[in-house]
Amino acid sequence: MDAFDTGTLTTVTAVINGFMALVWLLLVHAFRIAPAAGRLLAGAYVMFIPGLLCLSCLAWWPGWLGGWPQAMSNLAGFTLMSLGVRRLMRLNQRNADVLLISAVAALAVLLAALLGSFRWGMLALSLSTGLLFLLCSRDVLSGSRAGQPAWVTALLAMPFMLTSLLLLARAATFAWWPETSSLFMPREPASAGMAWLYLLLTLLIALGLVSVVVTRLIGRIQHMILRDPLTDALNRRAFGVELRHLQAQIERGHQHSLVMIDVDHFKQINDRLGHAAGDAALLHLVAVLRANMRELDQLGRLGGEEFCLLLPHTTLADASRVAQRMCEALRRQPFGWKEEPVAMTASFGVAACQPDDPQGEATLAMADWLLYRAKSEGRNRICVAEAGALLGKMVKP
Ligand code: GH3
Ligand code: MG
Ligand code: MG
Repeated sequence: MDAFDTGTLTTVTAVINGFMALVWLLLVHAFRIAPAAGRLLAGAYVMFIPGLLCLSCLAWWPGWLGGWPQAMSNLAGFTLMSLGVRRLMRLNQRNADVLLISAVAALAVLLAALLGSFRWGMLALSLSTGLLFLLCSRDVLSGSRAGQPAWVTALLAMPFMLTSLLLLARAATFAWWPETSSLFMPREPASAGMAWLYLLLTLLIALGLVSVVVTRLIGRIQHMILRDPLTDALNRRAFGVELRHLQAQIERGHQHSLVMIDVDHFKQINDRLGHAAGDAALLHLVAVLRANMRELDQLGRLGGEEFCLLLPHTTLADASRVAQRMCEALRRQPFGWKEEPVAMTASFGVAACQPDDPQGEATLAMADWLLYRAKSEGRNRICVAEAGALLGKMVKP
């Protein structure tokens, strides 16, 4: 057997399919990763194997059986893969389109087998699988995470799109130019190029699907490391990183401000209504703060019910306006607990960034000091101070 003949190449493709089925089963059963999608994809890879093995050992295939068993298992593979990709991309779309294409194709393949027409069977198979992979590329494009670079999305969708185009071109040759159809079949000795292409596309699709899972896992781990699990605000460490990043930009003329926020008499909410109500109150606080933030502002949870807002490119006057708006919004919108409104207020300390403070400690200390001045002056208010100033300006409700 020639190392690069179509038989060897399709056997290698079959082995890769078997390996990928094992990879998905391992991800599902050992790590509980993407269980629904993983099972469908493992099933798809298993279904592709008989067709590929038959291509590599056509001589052993009993002629009287015809090509329909391979065609059906191929069709099942494409159907499972389309459903698996849709689950993997977390699209809540109905599967009627995929199932309809597959059912019509299965009927057409069986009918062609009954009539003994290889050409019409292959046309039905190529057209339906081409359409299924077209749906896959659409799902990959629309299901990719927001914020993911466009080139990554394009790279993920590209092998599905290419395979789909190949299959549709194959369908066209069976419909209109049957004498050229062998060009798209990876089984003729002259079609080693096509067998290479199918092998490459199989590899690219396998890599793309696994990389969707890996990127998602990395994102989840990063989220767990950087965010507070209750409120989704940045944790103290992540907030420190953002603050240091902005402090480093002061020399270039950029300025930013900090707003330190602490709920007033929060312990009383916990004591009176329970810890769950306290948690709900924190979620309400964060929702109100977020509604008054810009996209580029960062909210961190520095401790129990103490939060800090980092406002890039913001003067002290603008930051105090933001804090005032938040203080009033919180006062106006009590949070609901068991259908009862519960009043909740907070105190705010607003400070401008301090120069010569690479770690941001002096800026944070300033905002903290102003917050506790707001507390000592009666709570439910903001306290603002110019950089370096010892005495702040109180803004009463
Ligand atoms: P002040 O107006 O002076 O800030 O009074 P306070 O009661 O808000 O402040 P204190 O520091 O005495 O109480 C904070 C409470 O917050 C104590 C702690 O049990 C509670 N706490 C901290 N983290 C959480 C949390 O994640 N969930 C809940 N429900 N309570 C929390
Ligand atoms: Mg408090
Ligand atoms: Mg506190």
